[in-house]
Amino acid sequence: MTDYAKLAEAGRDAVVAASIVCNEVQAVLDKVRQITKDDRSPVTVADFASQAVVAYALRERLGTVKLVAEETSGFLRDPAHIPHLEAAVAAAGAVWEGVTESDLLEAIDLGDHEPGSAPFWTLDPIDGTKGFLRGQQYAVALAYIEDATPVVGIMGCPNLPTDMSEPLDVPDDKGCLYWAIRGDGVYESSLESAHDASTRLTRLDHDEDQEICITASVEKAHSNVSDTDRMLEWIERETDHPVGEPVRIDSQCKYAVVARGQADAYLRLPAKKGYVERIWDHAAGALIAAESGAAVSDIFGHELDFGHGRGLEKNKGIVCAPPRVHGLMLAAIKALGIGRDG
Ligand code: AMP
Ligand code: MG
Repeated sequence: MTDYAKLAEAGRDAVVAASIVCNEVQAVLDKVRQITKDDRSPVTVADFASQAVVAYALRERLGTVKLVAEETSGFLRDPAHIPHLEAAVAAAGAVWEGVTESDLLEAIDLGDHEPGSAPFWTLDPIDGTKGFLRGQQYAVALAYIEDATPVVGIMGCPNLPTDMSEPLDVPDDKGCLYWAIRGDGVYESSLESAHDASTRLTRLDHDEDQEICITASVEKAHSNVSDTDRMLEWIERETDHPVGEPVRIDSQCKYAVVARGQADAYLRLPAKKGYVERIWDHAAGALIAAESGAAVSDIFGHELDFGHGRGLEKNKGIVCAPPRVHGLMLAAIKALGIGRDG
């Protein structure tokens, strides 16, 4: 029988290590930028280092590892990008003693597993790249998929404050860690003291007298803003529910923000025709929210299906909310015919 607790523990240590790496790169972002010509590269250095650290840590702890991760090593193997390779090795070195260039490249390549029917891990080494660059929210997101469903999910949120009274657009100096095993609930701790104290999160349903507060992407291209506005107007009109200002943050931190009761729904409405959501953008977060008691589906109410390769091919958009609000959101989507145009 699979020892899910062992997987979760290994995953947690890997994500904590990668979060330390990302934090350190972010602290010297301007310096890292100086060695690059394009703006994507500084992020890539942290992405690569984070992926390598997670892959290496999982393999050290668990032996062989089937990992479907976002990055490949091609860019770093190009002789024209040696400064990037050196910077990525230096970044990984914060937690991986003695790492060499070839260690790093090999570890990144561990992430090239082709997803199939056997269980596998999926990783977004830095989800919310734009947030990372702005010094705002991003996440290291790792999940273990079995039978097309995430069964272990871990998310490092290095800039997310545990204290919900703190602003979300200012980076916290401690950050948060979330982890969940399907059926066993979800836990939150400070990233700084991941092994000491943790709290189990229970998402209560939304109080009908309170404003409904949604969370959505900062990037307008990632979720349809006008459809979101139409939905919220519909809910206010048809149900007399007051609707508050959306909380806009990058990355899967949005799932955590719903799980811990800081927002009442995470909405991701299709913005670009034909766009298929990536599995690593949702696997960890969706389990974390579901284990708090939230309902997670696509915009038509279908369960997220992680059994079709690297994309959520059978799904469209995301609706994540406690059950009553989730029902309201789906009703609004249906009434307005959102997502029916391909
Ligand atoms: P967020 O921070 O929630 O805006 O999500 C960041 C993720 O959005 C990235 O990791 C991308 O994989 C993904 N993404 C890129 N283009 C799109 C798109 N057109 N629609 C939805 N998601 C996208
Ligand atoms: Mg991502």
